[in-house]
Amino acid sequence: MKIDVLTLFPELFNSFQEWSIISRTIEKNIFSLNAINIRDFSDDKHKRVDDYPFGGGPGMIMRPEPIYEAISETRTEDSMVIYLSPQGKPYNQQLANTLSKEKHLILLCGHYEGVDNRIIDNFIDLEISIGDYVLTGGEIPALVLIESIIRLLPGTLSSKESYMDESHYSGMLEHSQYTRPRSFKGLDVPEVLLSGNHKKIDEWRKYSSFKNTYIKRPDLLDKLKLTEEEAEILRRIKKEIEEKN
Ligand code: SAM
Repeated sequence: MKIDVLTLFPELFNSFQEWSIISRTIEKNIFSLNAINIRDFSDDKHKRVDDYPFGGGPGMIMRPEPIYEAISETRTEDSMVIYLSPQGKPYNQQLANTLSKEKHLILLCGHYEGVDNRIIDNFIDLEISIGDYVLTGGEIPALVLIESIIRLLPGTLSSKESYMDESHYSGMLEHSQYTRPRSFKGLDVPEVLLSGNHKKIDEWRKYSSFKNTYIKRPDLLDKLKLTEEEAEILRRIKKEIEEKN
């Protein structure tokens, strides 16, 4: 997969390329990352890329011409152009999975008050938001997309670090995890995890995953189609919690 980032701050992405997980995928030729400076496409003699909003109001808007030129130069038949924006589709693991199957992503990072809307309406395939809050620029959202996508590319993670058990992949939160020591300040690791009985450990992990999801993110359970066995696990957890309170 290739990702091109259109940004006013390409240097931010250069240091990111040296970061462990990213540099590993680049070395293995699984992934390549390229930051393109939108300013290089400005025909203004001072390389300005912003201007005042028509109709007045605070702040500056990114002009359409340099962005259009940057997209045109970078886009191929296989490209998907994404604008990072607080008005976009909410980003989640499912969307990361879908994007990880693309060959070429172009991520447009806005700045100031955002970009001229003619770009969004006519030259963008998808607008994505990383959450209901406003940041100064699209660079951190772009990094969020990049990291979440490359962990899903075949060959990035070793099988030991598989992403399939992790939170959100199956629509639920992951089970609780423990390491040495067995007892820490009088707090013991669940006995079953020390038993060596893999069937029982798997059952406990499923139970723990349901319990974490029910307690921390019950909204996720509403989206799932549970088997009879899973519905029974959930009833048991609800009963245990009711009895405790
Ligand atoms: N005036 C815009 C609005 O209210 O919708 C916000 C502009 S914001 C200050 C500047 C840039 O940061 C945006 O163009 C976008 O690229 C990026 N950005 C800010 N918040 C974001 C978010 N939650 N998700 C993705 N990108 C975001």
